[in-house]
Amino acid sequence: MHGLMMNTQLSIASILQHAEKVHRKSEIVSRKPEGGLFRYTYADAARRARQAANLLTRLGVKQQDRVATLAWNTHRHYELYYAVSGSGAILHTVNPRLFPEQIVYILNHAEDEVLFLDLQFVPLIEAIRDQLPKLKHVVLMVDAERMPESKLDLLCYETLLQEASAHYDWPALDENLAATLCYTSGTTGNPKGVLYSQRSTVLHALASLSGEALSMGNRSVVLPVVPMFHVNAWGVPYAATAAGAKLVLPGAGMDGASLYELIDSEQVTQMLGVPTVWLGLLQYCEKERCTMTSVEQVVIGGSAAPMSMIKGFQEKHNAFVVHAWGMTELSPMGTVNSMNAYMASLDQAQRYQLQVKQGRPIYGIELRIVDDAGNSLPQDGKAFGRLQARGPWVASSYYKLEDQSDWQDGWFDTGDVATIDEQGYMNIVDRAKDVIKSGGEWISSIDVENIAIGHDAVAECAVVGVPHPKWDERPLLLVVLEPGASLTREEMLEYLADKVVKWWLPDEVLFVDELPHTPTGKLLKRQLRDQYQGQYSGEA
Ligand code: AMP
Repeated sequence: MHGLMMNTQLSIASILQHAEKVHRKSEIVSRKPEGGLFRYTYADAARRARQAANLLTRLGVKQQDRVATLAWNTHRHYELYYAVSGSGAILHTVNPRLFPEQIVYILNHAEDEVLFLDLQFVPLIEAIRDQLPKLKHVVLMVDAERMPESKLDLLCYETLLQEASAHYDWPALDENLAATLCYTSGTTGNPKGVLYSQRSTVLHALASLSGEALSMGNRSVVLPVVPMFHVNAWGVPYAATAAGAKLVLPGAGMDGASLYELIDSEQVTQMLGVPTVWLGLLQYCEKERCTMTSVEQVVIGGSAAPMSMIKGFQEKHNAFVVHAWGMTELSPMGTVNSMNAYMASLDQAQRYQLQVKQGRPIYGIELRIVDDAGNSLPQDGKAFGRLQARGPWVASSYYKLEDQSDWQDGWFDTGDVATIDEQGYMNIVDRAKDVIKSGGEWISSIDVENIAIGHDAVAECAVVGVPHPKWDERPLLLVVLEPGASLTREEMLEYLADKVVKWWLPDEVLFVDELPHTPTGKLLKRQLRDQYQGQYSGEA
């Protein structure tokens, strides 16, 4: 017997419709790429999103067509999140930090016919326009009076919007229809497309709101520093809208000074982003001797949050760090290390120890760890193996790719190596390909990095395994120093000596000016391994 409940389809448009009715006056504040702040309400945003939906129809966009964006976190990008997916087309957010040839690849692979872009990316598209045969329209998201000279046939978003009617009936959509498309920036091979559905997006947003996850509500002032071109800004534009939170969109201003100014002027209560961004912000606050007084919670994910950063936010800014783990294939949220009764019972030192873990799966996500033969390993906090996930917002395959090698028995293999303890706390040991295999044992590069970064003189560091004639691989530590700081190899090793087991100590410490990063801000370890592969074999 079926339950006798309405079979209401979950839809992205319904989130904005709800905000328009219930959170009419909650604000969205956005830093425009052409300069200046823009401020309006969810009611205004809903009206402009309907106009944008009419604009899409005028440009010939039909259901399930792919519509690309190359844009920062702005109100216009936000409007397209709803206009494109709400009208039944598929929003394809493109990461402008990818190499131009990767951008060509994914725009062609997705067969995007319309591209919306910010002013800054005009030269990028001018350079590759002739390699994009499917693309019909390029729409620039800028005020009409700021339209630049360009060899592109550019349309102006604001002009088109003005001409569009604000009357639009969001179509009833099957909740399983594709809604957004995001390519993962793998470190090898072509980027792979992850295709989210209306349903997965709504479920992910609902799960994100809870106290076990991001604790987002109508009184929150939320600053997603994670870009809207990276896994839909971790779903925040949907979750914040459902909650009616004030949404603060930082535009292109991801540097410490710009972020601090916005945090202070808008009284941000929670913000989300990757460690590199927070490093810049904390350094800025340190230098300028300023404190973030309004921030209650900082969500850190994308790479491991080092303890020094967790302490920095807590002790200097009274801001609690919520460490989270996820990935593009998980929409992205998998685990969140939020405050709970257990954590509250710990003293501060124990709490920090717990906070460096990536947290527990939020309801909806199941995790397990397996050995190389695919056997489940115990949840005892010690055994570590390949981390696998399943749930309603986990990808079941890649867009237009037959290869199913990342899936086994209905589980998605994340490519991460982790432990899980009795309480469900998951701790990332490493990416499977970054873990250092020394004399048959494994060394976690992340653990050593997290300790090394705690030294005051260290601004950033990376630990990679390089071939070693006796031990197979041995760790090499690369350090970028804080401006003006000095540190020797011996001092660094001495600092680490009582904090890691002896055989985890890097054999060598090298000081470098900068470290390479992927387009999403992660350390590009493959490049470092290639560069330093001769270090221990005498070929360096
Ligand atoms: P992406 O799909 O680009 O978001 O990358 C996902 C990958 O980032 C994961 O598989 C992890 O390797 C890494 N990652 C994400 N969050 C964390 C975290 N909190 N700690 C360590 N690694 C993380």
